[in-house]
Amino acid sequence: MLDVRVFDEATKNAVYSKQTEESKTKGKSNCPLCAIGHAANNNKIWKLKEMDADHISAWSKGGATDTNNCQMLCKTHNRAKGNRYFYLSKCNRLGIKPLSARLQVRILSGPIKK
Ligand SMILES: [Zn+2]
Repeated sequence: MLDVRVFDEATKNAVYSKQTEESKTKGKSNCPLCAIGHAANNNKIWKLKEMDADHISAWSKGGATDTNNCQMLCKTHNRAKGNRYFYLSKCNRLGIKPLSARLQVRILSGPIKK
């Protein structure tokens, strides 16, 4: 079996269209993390080129690279999600109880610096 870490364009396009269509009917952002945030972006529809594909369950933990395990996140949240994993593993190493996921999302979806 081939271990492919990067989603191909066809997968990204398919997931992007599906997410964007659903978001428009709900009046929410097509970035699932923007959509649950309280920032001004919570109803922003990002363009495909403004988003990055993300593995819902981490590739490093055996998550597949296919449409079922793909979500499109805005670039800011895609980066922030990486930071969150870093943060959680750091807490784990230091034996600290991490903040609740909800609180983390609130912090991560704060104002975006330009
Ligand atoms: Zn976002």
